[in-house]
Amino acid sequence: MVDSMKINVNRVEKSRIGEVDFDNISFGKIYSDHMFRASYKNGQWNTFDIIPFGSLSISPASQTLHYGVSVFEGMKAYKNEQGQPVLFRPLENQRRLNRSAERLCIPALPEEIFMEGLTQLLKMDQAWIPGQENTALYVRPFIFSTEEYIGIKTSDSFDFLIITSPVGAYYSAPVKVKIEMEFARAVRGGTGYAKAAGNYAGSLYPAKLGQQQGYDQLIWTDGQEHKYIEEAGTMNLMFVIDDVLVTPELTDTLLHGITRDSILTLARDMGIPVEERKITVNEVVSSLQQGNMTDAFGVGTAATLTHISVIGYEGTDYILPPVQERTISNRLKETLENIKKGRAEDKFGWVVPVI
Ligand SMILES: *Cc1c(COP(=O)(O)O)cnc(C)c1O
Repeated sequence: MVDSMKINVNRVEKSRIGEVDFDNISFGKIYSDHMFRASYKNGQWNTFDIIPFGSLSISPASQTLHYGVSVFEGMKAYKNEQGQPVLFRPLENQRRLNRSAERLCIPALPEEIFMEGLTQLLKMDQAWIPGQENTALYVRPFIFSTEEYIGIKTSDSFDFLIITSPVGAYYSAPVKVKIEMEFARAVRGGTGYAKAAGNYAGSLYPAKLGQQQGYDQLIWTDGQEHKYIEEAGTMNLMFVIDDVLVTPELTDTLLHGITRDSILTLARDMGIPVEERKITVNEVVSSLQQGNMTDAFGVGTAATLTHISVIGYEGTDYILPPVQERTISNRLKETLENIKKGRAEDKFGWVVPVI
């Protein structure tokens, strides 16, 4: 499928990096100088460019604008202790992008294009990878239809883009979450497991109602009965109940997080008992009432490991122990950070140098 991976490069005349205050970066507001683009036409991915970050020209009849024919990924590039740019399990993102793409009839993107585009872009913009603790260069690869056609059909032309953004912490403090008993994010047979644009559009309204009630995020429950715990908006969920680390098992209604997999792998390696299984809302609420739940947290690339301070259910707020007492999650978080930063042995081969 790949003609030849010749990337045309058009550099910015003047870098914008001098305008960035790297000691005060929030999430997702600043973009680096360049972006990578591959275009799909006539059955192949055939043009590859690195161009200045900037606006795109898009038909008002684009299938993306009308029908959400778009899938994305989220990953981070870090500087390790030695100052070298590294990626964390990037091939997992490439594979998941293609699983999402398949669900929306978007053509698969070959590994070579993903990795070559990513590497070349990061080499060029490596000065944008911040080095401060809790910062990273967030990398957003995405594919969308560029087809001009107002009818509903599978598209024939697409763009794959990678843009990057220096980021600080996604959440600055532990989060308050509400168990959502009315709305649903995903249903069996739907697109919940895909990072498909529409999933996130559909979650905005319930999340807004939750925010009006004082919650940062929702805990989604299954769309059929609202009986089982699923995940949060951008994070998979983990609980420590009776000293066991429990997390919902993978189904087609939740995102198969790479951070989730990494945390479970580390936990098993440390000898922490782990269960991937169905978790009922009842179990969560009763273990909160009885004090058997000693920890609850979300895991995802953007937010890394974020502690949950409060779980709200049907108007009652249950308060979790202070973060200093959360031995299991604190240990897991620290170990993961140390591996990414090159301070701990990378025994699972997760860290990939960019150069
Ligand atoms: C991206 C995402 C996650 C986390 O996945 P990671 O691979 O760990 O970043 C969890 N839930 C949802 C809904 C997501 O979009």
